[in-house]
Amino acid sequence: MHWTMGPSPFFEERHMKLAGRLEDWRAPEVDEDSPDLEAACRTLAGDLADAGFIDLMVPVNSVVDLRAVCLAREAVAYNSALADEVLAMQGIGAGAIWMHGTPEQKARYLDPIRQGKAIAGFALTEPASGSDVANITTRAERTDRGYVLNGAKTLISNAPFADHYIVMARTGEAPGAKGLSAFVVDRGTPGMIPGEPIPLIAPHPLAPIAFEDCHLPADALIGTPGAGFAIAMATFDIFRTSVGAAAVGMARRARDAAVERVLSRHLFGDSMARLPGVQTSLAEMEIDLTTASLAVYSAAWNRDTGNGSATRSASLAKYVGTEHAGRVVDAALQLFGGAGVTRGNIVEKIYREVRAARIYEGASEVQKIVIARDLLKAAGLKR
Ligand SMILES: Cc1cc2nc3c(=O)[nH]c(=O)nc-3n(C[C@H](O)[C@H](O)[C@H](O)COP(=O)(O)OP(=O)(O)OC[C@H]3O[C@@H](n4cnc5c(N)ncnc54)[C@H](O)[C@@H]3O)c2cc1C
Repeated sequence: MHWTMGPSPFFEERHMKLAGRLEDWRAPEVDEDSPDLEAACRTLAGDLADAGFIDLMVPVNSVVDLRAVCLAREAVAYNSALADEVLAMQGIGAGAIWMHGTPEQKARYLDPIRQGKAIAGFALTEPASGSDVANITTRAERTDRGYVLNGAKTLISNAPFADHYIVMARTGEAPGAKGLSAFVVDRGTPGMIPGEPIPLIAPHPLAPIAFEDCHLPADALIGTPGAGFAIAMATFDIFRTSVGAAAVGMARRARDAAVERVLSRHLFGDSMARLPGVQTSLAEMEIDLTTASLAVYSAAWNRDTGNGSATRSASLAKYVGTEHAGRVVDAALQLFGGAGVTRGNIVEKIYREVRAARIYEGASEVQKIVIARDLLKAAGLKR
């Protein structure tokens, strides 16, 4: 079965060519059960780079083709959620640099990320501020030579082994979100202390990072002081849509597995596929999947063509993509019956893998707030 949407008004010739390349791609075998996922992630990064897919996440000309990014994430996630994590983080951990970095920062960091030789990270969340980004307390104090970081981040993908992290810290130009700045911090910088891996319900490298008198040179600042929140949101305006695409890829894999299952299983003396209740369930899955795909690719098209609000589209795509995908995967597991909850079953694995997408890069409830605020702002509501 085909993993993605066929020709559509959202796609151009180059997207259909890319879809062909993506369809041939298979994730390399890696040890996903290892408590230390570094080796697996480095193998996946090398493979994704060789296939040319990381170039889509970190565009050389600084113009992202979001439809291509979404196609890549959908296809890669169809194959492997861990490979999708690696692909996505190369983009999220590089976005601040290609969008707002100096020529020196771009020259130093971007090519190794594109080549899969360096692994990137993005450190925003703290123990007391995940959804509440404006409450970040990690501080960056200005010194004669640069900055000193103190504070703690948690739930950071690719920690503890990423080669650099985009770190958001309070520099105090204004209260709340307007007093944050973005920094690039290299692995091994004295005072940067990555913690032990946090085990998750599905394979995904994650760890806390502490900063204790961590001295940074002045040129570790990305963009201007106080621009950190805007830089983080510019990154999310691109990558939230692609989280929806990845969720669609996982849901499509679960849907395909469920179709195979009902075709091969007999219940009540007939093919399970002939039971009306089973057909209703499949129809609902297809409706959810199509709704999710449309939300994702119309948002990507909007951004690529400058149509409407990129922020509202991205939140809508993330919300619809991940919520509908979650329903599809749940329904696919239900069609497998008891086999669906046995360890090692493909739908059991996807069920665990797809869940976190409704939480990271802004939980579903946060996306609704963004959508409503953007709608009301356009209608003239002042903050
Ligand atoms: C697999 C994974 C990878 C991650 N990777 C990274 C990373 O690389 N970098 C990084 O910085 N962070 C990362 N995170 C952290 C992630 O961004 C946060 O978990 C997320 O923003 C939610 O923050 P929180 O966990 O502190 O939950 P909280 O902010 O405590 O929120 C808890 C729940 O409350 C609800 N909620 C929140 N706000 C509202 C509201 N206003 N109204 C109604 N309900 C609300 C939501 O359901 C939310 O899930 C990752 C998380 C996971 C699970």
